[in-house]
This record gives sequence, structure tokens and C-alpha cells, in this order.
Amino acid sequence: MATTLPTVKHLIDGQQVAGGTRSQDVFNPATGQAEKRLLLADKATVELAIASAQAAFPAWRNTPPLKRARVMGNLKVLLEQHADELCAMITAEHGKVLSDSLGELQRGIENVEYASYAPELLKGEHSKNVGPAIDSWSEFQALGVTAGITPFNFPAMVPLWMWPMAVACGNTFVLKPSERDPTSTLRIAELALEAGLPPGVLNVVNGDKEAVDTLLCDPRVKAVSFVGSTPIAEYIYSEGCKHGKRVQALGGAKNHAVVMPDADIGNAVSALMGAAYGSCGERCMAIPLVVAVGDAAADAVIAGLKTEIAKMKVGPGTAHGMDMGPLVTKPHLEKVRGYVDQGVKEGATLVVDGRGLTVAGHADGYFLGPCLFDNVKPGMVIYQEEIFGPVLGVVRVKTLQEAMDLIDAHEYGNGTCIFTRDGEAARYFTDNILVGMVGVNVPLPVPVAYHSFGG
Ligand code: NAD
Repeated sequence: MATTLPTVKHLIDGQQVAGGTRSQDVFNPATGQAEKRLLLADKATVELAIASAQAAFPAWRNTPPLKRARVMGNLKVLLEQHADELCAMITAEHGKVLSDSLGELQRGIENVEYASYAPELLKGEHSKNVGPAIDSWSEFQALGVTAGITPFNFPAMVPLWMWPMAVACGNTFVLKPSERDPTSTLRIAELALEAGLPPGVLNVVNGDKEAVDTLLCDPRVKAVSFVGSTPIAEYIYSEGCKHGKRVQALGGAKNHAVVMPDADIGNAVSALMGAAYGSCGERCMAIPLVVAVGDAAADAVIAGLKTEIAKMKVGPGTAHGMDMGPLVTKPHLEKVRGYVDQGVKEGATLVVDGRGLTVAGHADGYFLGPCLFDNVKPGMVIYQEEIFGPVLGVVRVKTLQEAMDLIDAHEYGNGTCIFTRDGEAARYFTDNILVGMVGVNVPLPVPVAYHSFGG
């Protein structure tokens, strides 16, 4: 007999409500089993949420900023108290190991903490006598109903980038989280109510394109914040702007790590293991590409990575001591496997092949072992496209200039990390020598990476 799955609804006007005739399953990626049924909001349901946010706006914008900020302070405490429950929800739907879920939640809590400083941030400026008897001032005004559309890979953190700051500034909000792992997002919104957020200030609608399109077209929505893949970011940006909204849309990435000949290889390898395989590579700031300057650096970094990969424990994110869990869904697993097949076809050397991995007792889980390619070349699909899985490629170049030119030419806006002794020296210089800290017993730097973020 078929069992009935628990239904995941929407949170509108402070109440869990059903809405929409379509639904889809939410899977546990470690088992491959559907565990919940998610209702997909139709246009009418999203409009109900927008109406609730619109109705809550006048009183909320007139609530003193300090009182709004207090709610954020209360929420921070509640999130800390409910961390275990929230991390279990994230891991059950996303698949990441519990320590990664906790890391994500902590980054999210930091955003709530920052939003609690909103009264200070909302202070305007006043300039007297900018012209004869003319004063000038600026102030921050809430916009009204704002909306957020978020990706699967950080179901707690990315929504917390958006709505706490928006509501602390006096806006109201309609959030459309990822349909793949919506439960922790919804639970956090319930905790916000418990923290003192009035009903209607934050509404959550679960759904897909229909829900998103309703938010993009409705004239009551004044601003939209999006995080997700590049093609959808482009769509959100153009559609939102077409409808006169303020839009910020953050897309995908392909980040490079340059390993210089003088780098501390042990440090580089240890940082790369976390950056490439942490959260199964499903992070916009993951490092999927190493650009090794010189064959000696390439050979050393590959040897080090092979040794560390052999020690990795891959299994369900809830199990003790796991380094990596499954990918989020079966289609995503197939997509990432497809990239590995493609890399082999294109002539890159597959040094570590994770495709044969089996996890005892989890035959239907969406597991892929860590994969490592050598001799990746620009122009290969695995070099150009965002894979978003545990696949690391090494590109060999001869000079730092060649490495920089490659990174600059890549179509994605990237975060770049350079492993070099010189970078460590530069950091030590700016942190300590430049600010006169030498002689104040500053410890010598542990070899750390030198990060620069550019596009
Ligand atoms: P996605 O683009 O598939 O989905 C993001 C959101 O858009 C979801 O809420 C989804 O329901 C909605 N959506 C999907 N298709 C849509 C359509 N056709 N029309 C309207 N809405 C649609 O992204 P994802 O797979 O959930 O997340 C992974 C992506 O997010 C990666 O590309 C990653 O790099 C990116 N990301 C970027 C950042 C950043 O800061 N730049 C941070 C995290 C994730």
C-alpha cells in the first residue's frame, strides 16, 4: 500500500496554508527515497502572499528600526537553539554532511546578526548650507514588498542573505526557496514569527517557474533578489527590469586556484580538498579548477590530492565522520557524471575516477566519488562550464601570466585563489609590517592562501 508523504505547504500571513494543484516530491539524496510532497504555488497563491506582504507593510515600515532589529536579535538566539534541528533538515534534503550544514547555518546567522545593526546602518546624512541657506539630506526609505528567489545549495544561508536585511530596513518580503530542499527555509520563517516578526512581514511560497513569474510580473513587488544558475539569473534580471523592478541577480561561477612553483604544496592540497569536494562541490565558491604553474607544481599537487582523496569518507551526511555526502538529486548526479564522461572523451586524464563508488546500504543514493582530472585544457567543456559536483581539474601552464590570462578570459565571474610563498609574504606585510605590528609578538603566518576576488 502506498504511504502518504507529509505535505510541505506555504507560509502566508503567519499561517501554513495549502495552495496550488500541482506538487512534486522532495527526496532524501542519501537514500533516493521521496520523503515529502511539496505543494507548488500557483499564481493565486503567490498573489495571496504578495497581498499579505502589502497589507503588513505600512505598520512594519512605521515600526521603529530598533524594534525591528530586536526581532533579528531574538531570531539569532532561536536559530542557535534550533541548530541541530535545522542542520538535520538541510542534510536530509540537500545531502551535505552535518558539519557543512552547520557551517552554512552559522554563515546565515551572521547575516541575521548583521541585520540587527540596521538602525545604525539606516542613519542618513545631513549637510548644512550646501548652497546659500540650502541644506541637503539623505535618508533610507523602505520600498514596500520585496521578493527573494533562492537556490538549492544553501537553503538556509542564501535566504538569510536576503530577507533579514530587507525586513530589518522596513520592507516586507515574499520568499520563493528552492523546490529541492525547502524545509529548513520554511522552518526558519516559522522561527522568525516566534522571534516576534508580525504575520505577513515574511511570507514563503514554495513553487517553480509559475511562482517566480508571478513575483516578477506583479506591480506590487518593488524589488527582487535572485541567487542561482546563470541562465535563470539572466532571465530574472531581464524580466524583472522589464516590469520596472530593482533586481539583483547572482549567477553561477567557475573558480580557479593558481598553484605557483614556490607554493607550500601541503597547504595548497589541504585547502583544495575542502574547496573542491566540500559540500560535494555544490558551492558557487567551490574550486573546480587548479591552474598549476610548471610541471613540478602540477605533479606535486596531483600526488598530494591523490593521497588525500584516498582517505576521504563518502556516505550519508548524517553518518559520523563523513567528508562528503551525495549530490542533491538524481538528475543532477546524472548531469555531473555526464561531465566526467565528457572530460574523458575530450582527452583529459582522469586520475581519480569516482564513478564506480558504491555506498553500502545506500544503493539508490545519489553518490559520486571525488573525481580528479589532469591535463584539462581551455576549450574543453569541463573547463568552460560549471559542473557543480565533486570534480576537480588541473590545467598545466608555464607562467603566472599565462594563468592570469586564462582566468581573465573565462566567461564566468570568478573568485581566484593563488597559492604562493610571495602571497603569504604580501599578506604578512600588509597585516603586520605596514600597520607597525612587528615587535608586538605577532606569530609568523601559518601558510595561508592569498585570495583575490575579481570578475
Ligand atoms: P537554479 O537557477 O536552477 O534555481 C534557482 C531558483 O530559480 C530556484 O528557486 C528555482 O525554483 C528557480 N528557477 C529555476 N528555473 C526557473 C525558471 N525557468 N524560471 C524561473 N525560475 C526558475 O539554481 P540551483 O540549481 O538551485 O542552484 C545552483 C546554482 O546557483 C549554481 O549555478 C550556483 O553557482 C549558483 N549559486 C550562486 C551563488 C552566488 O552567490 N553567485 C550562490 C549560490 C549558488
